[in-house]
Amino acid sequence: MTLDQYKPSGNQTQQNKVIVFSSQAYDKDFLTQHCPDSIEFQFFETKLDAKSVVLASGFDVVSVFVNDTIDAEVIDALLEMGVEHIALRCAGYNNVDVEYANERGMAVSRVPAYSPQAVAEHTIALMMALNRKLHKAYNRVKEGNFDLNGLLGFNLYGKTVGIIGTGKIGQAVINILLGFGCKIICYDVAQSVDVTAKGAHYTSLDELTQQSDIISLHCPLLPETKHLINNARLSAMKEGVMLINTSRGKLVDTKAVINAIKRKHIGALGLDVYEMEENLFFKNRSSEIIEDDVFQRLLTFPNVLITGHQGFFTHEALTEIAQTTISNIEYFASQQKPEQEDAIASNFL
Ligand code: NAD
Repeated sequence: MTLDQYKPSGNQTQQNKVIVFSSQAYDKDFLTQHCPDSIEFQFFETKLDAKSVVLASGFDVVSVFVNDTIDAEVIDALLEMGVEHIALRCAGYNNVDVEYANERGMAVSRVPAYSPQAVAEHTIALMMALNRKLHKAYNRVKEGNFDLNGLLGFNLYGKTVGIIGTGKIGQAVINILLGFGCKIICYDVAQSVDVTAKGAHYTSLDELTQQSDIISLHCPLLPETKHLINNARLSAMKEGVMLINTSRGKLVDTKAVINAIKRKHIGALGLDVYEMEENLFFKNRSSEIIEDDVFQRLLTFPNVLITGHQGFFTHEALTEIAQTTISNIEYFASQQKPEQEDAIASNFL
């Protein structure tokens, strides 16, 4: 949908009042730092869902993140309050009913490419840490234990890495891994000539599954990619394979992966995202009893390394997120034609 299909907001001279859901101190810092006079932000830690949507009353725009729930009920409620624009501060939009929003004339914008390198570098950090067991080595050395037994890794040089999803992040991961001397095989529903020009080559999902020493997920969460990594696919993988997911938690059937680790079929698992992360991540829960037994089981394995959705979390990415979110809000409110009009219009879903 193009912006021309939206009505002007009618709030072109006044300040745009924006409620920022799921906001952390760093969101406040970066958005405030780049905030123009035309926008007033108010920050709430609360996630947006059908219960909390009432907080949006009196605002023109809601800004949301990965674990807010923007379904038809929330969209109806927002429209009734006069909210005309949902400004995502992330690239993925699986948590928004975009089709319904379009049907109802609600604008939805996102930050399509704030820093593919940030997520790609974190993906490599997980691979390297798991391979050389840095999470264990760190603790050992701190305790004066210099025993190397149990820390044996392998050379990345010459290994076959399977990349599922060769968009912006997948390609940034490929660039780094080619530097290590890895052989890259890829699967994507839409093949890119840029990928083959780099020296990587496309194959079927089945072949990738069978041939890879390391598999890294970089495709979006869609109905057809939910549990892409399931029992059958895990069983078809090489014994001792390393699986990395920095994309979306629901791409992996967590219970199936736990069974595969218990069978010693999976050699290492690195996660920056988790199937049920909505009620877990982005909050200090160190004094709480965590009730998610599946997550707790994952934490017991020595060959599993989990980070709490921090792939995007670099200075450069947060700057880009703040600037693009603000551009999207200003563009929709004013309908002016900025220099990079096409680029900004394409941020609207
Ligand atoms: P992108 O849109 O540039 O690339 C996604 C690629 O996946 C595309 O090439 C697309 O054709 C491909 N794809 C679509 N359906 C597929 C399927 N069924 N099988 C295989 N490939 C398929 O997106 P991106 O910027 O590279 O981001 C990838 C994902 O990373 C996002 O969807 C998001 O979920 C995740 N992400 C995570 C973090 C984090 O902090 N961990 C940050 C940003 C994005």
